[in-house]
Amino acid sequence: MLDLAIIGGGPAGLTAGLYATRGGLKDVVMYEMGLPGGQITQSSEIENYPGFEAPLTGMELMEPWPKQCMRFGLKHEMSEVKRVSKEGEHFLLHLASGDKIEAKSVIVATGSKPKRAGIKGEDTYYGRGVSNCATCDGFFYKDREVVVIGGGDTALEEALYLANICSKVYLVHRRDSFRASPHTVERVKANSKIELVLNSVVDEILGDESGVTGVDIISKEGTKRHIEVPGVFIFVGMDVQNQVLKQEDGSFLCEVNEWGEVIVDLSMNTSVEGLYAAGDIRIEAPKQVVCAASDGAIAALQVVAKSH
Ligand code: FAD
Ligand code: NAP
Repeated sequence: MLDLAIIGGGPAGLTAGLYATRGGLKDVVMYEMGLPGGQITQSSEIENYPGFEAPLTGMELMEPWPKQCMRFGLKHEMSEVKRVSKEGEHFLLHLASGDKIEAKSVIVATGSKPKRAGIKGEDTYYGRGVSNCATCDGFFYKDREVVVIGGGDTALEEALYLANICSKVYLVHRRDSFRASPHTVERVKANSKIELVLNSVVDEILGDESGVTGVDIISKEGTKRHIEVPGVFIFVGMDVQNQVLKQEDGSFLCEVNEWGEVIVDLSMNTSVEGLYAAGDIRIEAPKQVVCAASDGAIAALQVVAKSH
């Protein structure tokens, strides 16, 4: 019986492991199906994690985190967790290997993934001009022009954020009406730095060895347009990684909102006693490393406090 099982080894899961073990919990295992570090290890440049004067890569940022946690007794099991269920007072982790692990408490920190749009050049230039994160990468395009793709709340909110930094934002959307909330749409329409390119799709993202150089756009009527930009921000939806919470009958173990994000309170408690969610998987997550780490610490401190 584990004191605590942590599912996911990104910034939230690793920080939860650090605080849980330093808080005196004995049997703490972090289940991470890949190498620990999480999605930030895909990033080639981070300049907003506090404490580092110069930008660094995601790999460089995350490399010491597991070592720091292991020093205090966190164990890492390189396994995929298929499902977590509640059996009486305790939880049962169903691993992909078929093994079943009992735990008194569980922190779910499996993150969320931006959807890909399937545009030619998107994968080639991902991290070299193609981004899913304006807070992370917007500043690299200060006083320059960028393209934003999508018509939901995320695309429009991020377009507004980028308009504060960039000289111009082309918002390319495949229809002429938006999914985003009317108030956000009004704000976008009123922003003189945002040009709406509607009924249009980006046909190809172009670039060279330096990264993105521009996009080819095609409208519904077949009109072609080329825009030279060094940055393309794609916001076409998120896949919340909540599969571990799905039960055999299709319901979720705890409450989630209409987008599948786990509902938590300020202490990262879910609707189920002893089950916590931390990082990008939770409602209203700012989707930043520093915030995910903070969530992990908060959740672990709760587990420690309740263990006394
Ligand atoms: P994640 O980092 O997504 O970690 C979740 C982990 O859970 C993954 O390692 C995954 O393998 C594991 N996992 C998932 N399901 C299972 C399962 N069933 N069993 C076992 N393991 C599982 N943030 C910033 O603050 N600054 C930046 O500059 C920045 N740049 C970014 C650039 C890119 C390209 C990307 C993709 C993200 C960037 N972010 C940035 C966002 C940041 O990476 C996330 O907010 C943060 O990583 C979220 O941490 P997390 O621990 O919640 O989830
Ligand atoms: P979303 O609402 O699913 O919107 C995705 C957008 O991308 C849609 O406009 C869609 O176009 C477009 N799209 C999808 N696939 C595409 C493709 N391959 N090529 C080009 N365009 C494509 O996703 P989201 O904006 O990330 O929001 C997710 C959920 O979180 C939503 O329910 C949203 O309301 C919510 N959210 C809320 C807030 C807030 O309340 N402040 C903020 C952010 C997100 P179509 O419209 O034509 O389908």
